[in-house]
Formats: sequence, C-alpha cells, structure tokens
Amino acid sequence: MRYGIISDIHGNLEALEAVWSNLQEEDIQRIFFLGDIVGYGPDPNRCIEKIREIAHALIAGNHDHAVVGLTDIKYFNPYARKAIEWTITEMTEENLAYLRSLPLLLQADGMTLVHSSPKEPKEWYYIATLNEAEENLDYFSDPTCLIGHSHQPFVVVCDIHKRCFVEQGPIIQLKDEYRYIINAGSVGQPRDGDPRACYVIIDKDKKEIRFNRITYDYRITQDKMRRAGLSRFLIERLAVGK
Ligand code: ZN
Repeated sequence: MRYGIISDIHGNLEALEAVWSNLQEEDIQRIFFLGDIVGYGPDPNRCIEKIREIAHALIAGNHDHAVVGLTDIKYFNPYARKAIEWTITEMTEENLAYLRSLPLLLQADGMTLVHSSPKEPKEWYYIATLNEAEENLDYFSDPTCLIGHSHQPFVVVCDIHKRCFVEQGPIIQLKDEYRYIINAGSVGQPRDGDPRACYVIIDKDKKEIRFNRITYDYRITQDKMRRAGLSRFLIERLAVGK
C-alpha cells in the first residue's frame, strides 16, 4: 500500500493541483491530509472541495479551526490573522460546516494523524526539538505519528528507550524496531527555503518514506492574492519558500 501524506495547503489551489497530478503518477492508494486547508491563500473554498474529493482521512489544523471560531484568532500573528479574517468573508456555509466537522486527531491504518502534537492537539504547540518529540511519544500508540503545522519537513526516529534522532531524507527506510514522527512539510506555503510544494509518500511494502517536491506556478497564486488584497509578505514568501 502506498500512502500520500499531505499537509498545510493554505488555500493554494495551484500547489494542490500540482501535488494531485503527481500523486496520480505515483500510484498512491490512499491520501491522508494533516490539516490547514485554508488560511493565507486565495482559494479556500476550492481547496476544501478538492481535498474532500481526494483524501481518505482528514483532520483540522489551527487555521481551519480559527475560520470557524473554534480557536481564538488573537493567538495568530497579524499576517495570519488578517488572512483568516479575509478567508471568513469568502467561505460558503457548506464549507464552514465541513471544517467544523473535522476531528483534531485520527488513527488510520496504524498511523496517528494530528496537525500539531498528539500530547495537546488543541493547544497547537510545535514539535520542533528532539525533547518535544520524546515528550510526545507516550501520547500515541501507533508506530508512526504524522504531523504538519510548522511547514518544515522532517523525520524523527525513536528507539524503544524513547531516545530520538533526526533522519535526513529524501528517502528513509522504515524499521520495525523504531517509532516515527513524520512532518509532511507544506503543500501551499513551504518554509524550508524550497518554494516547491512538499508532501510525503509512505510505501508500507517497501518500508520506505520519501519526500517529494513539486514545482508549480506560484505566480498564478500570487496574482490571485494581489487581487484579493492579501498581504505582500504572504505573497512574496511563496517565491522563496520562507
Ligand atoms: Zn499551516
């Protein structure tokens, strides 16, 4: 079974469509989505409709929750807050109801899916250090936990003594004696210095994790953002992936 793990689309339809066409070429059987369909980007409704159509398991992120009033927007930086306020004015009733219906944590096919951290999914903490990864190991029981949120792709590998280390990609072998915390990076707003859309393939038969980077025409997204009056900072960061 081959899984496509995607996260943090953030209303970027061009990036999502490019990833979708790559997923089809990669012969993926199941697609899991790790939250933040909306926020920042110019196509929140169309991204929701697309991801509903293609994903087999979906959870909510902090931006999805903020748009439907389940997380207070005061916790966001001014750029994110303004984009969330703009997104709210764009959303259809049906898509608002859909975002509200998404869970924060899900277990599927031996994997735990959560946007921020399994320890406190609703607090939206980041897992950014090995200490934070180790702290979270007692809060999921599956061999693998899939996360998003930081827009930074990484794989943390942990042994039975709960000692963790980082493995460098783009291809990593899965071993039965380890547990894994995998950050799928971001489809619609990468922040690791590479502007290409990022997602992960997990191949359970080959026991392999692979990060794929997909080029898309971010200038189209940027034009839409300009027309929508979204902030220059958010527009420009798409070109540099920062
Ligand atoms: Zn995000």
